[in-house]
Amino acid sequence: MIAHFLARKWAFFLFPIIFAAMYNSLVIKVGTNVLTRPDGRLDITNISHLVDQIAALKAEGVNLVLVSSGAVGAGRELLQVRTGTEEVARRQVQSAVGQVRLMEIYRQLFSNHGLLCAQVLATKGDFRDDLHADNMLNCFQALLLDEVVPVVNENDVVAVTELMFTDNDELAGLVSRMLKVDALVILSSVDGLFDGPPENAESKLIQRIEAGDESVLSFVQEKKTSFGRGGMATKLRIATQTAAAGIPVLLGNGRTPNILNELISGNWPGTTVK
Ligand code: GLU
Repeated sequence: MIAHFLARKWAFFLFPIIFAAMYNSLVIKVGTNVLTRPDGRLDITNISHLVDQIAALKAEGVNLVLVSSGAVGAGRELLQVRTGTEEVARRQVQSAVGQVRLMEIYRQLFSNHGLLCAQVLATKGDFRDDLHADNMLNCFQALLLDEVVPVVNENDVVAVTELMFTDNDELAGLVSRMLKVDALVILSSVDGLFDGPPENAESKLIQRIEAGDESVLSFVQEKKTSFGRGGMATKLRIATQTAAAGIPVLLGNGRTPNILNELISGNWPGTTVK
């Protein structure tokens, strides 16, 4: 009886430790729709809640990198680019202005937890060039050693046309593979992949997808959520490729309160690709 009680008590204590230990290192990607309100303004309340959760994971000893979109959105809210400015230049201006604002918000929010964050901007070319990739890896490793939270975004000022990632999901996948993390978490404004339109009450969330299973692409809805560049199709493509490289991918809703705590429960409320 006592042995049984002790066994249960041990199981109780070990359970969180086992799952926390499952993820010693993470890349967490947050999309523009998680960071902005429906009218396009930055959602400081949700950003703050995400930073609180990330800080809690850091306190558990998890090494993590944040891949954050939102620069273009943050800039769009600050300035009306002059009419007549061409589309590419407009995006460059908005991201250049918005990235500063975004990082200032992260700096303040992380400092509330006694944490420093750092800006890392990359283009697709940086992953193709061995020297650039090595420099980036060395920088990530040194930042993580110093307990700094790297906040990564595409360098939208120079990433134009062929230098552009499909979206930040692709960037997050490349960073995850470069750092060989234990998992990649992709947070968007939907719970994951559904077997029908997500807004339809009969549609069911697909909880588990095998790495390399392309058949699930048939469930992808064409419609893209408002402000982000990617959609579920690229998320799934990146997720299956990253999972095939041995890194599980967890798709989830960045607006679900305390979603990152569920990494420890082992009961992810989204779609797991592995
Ligand atoms: N780099 C863009 C930004 O910060 C976002 C790209 C994407 O939506 O994936 O606004």
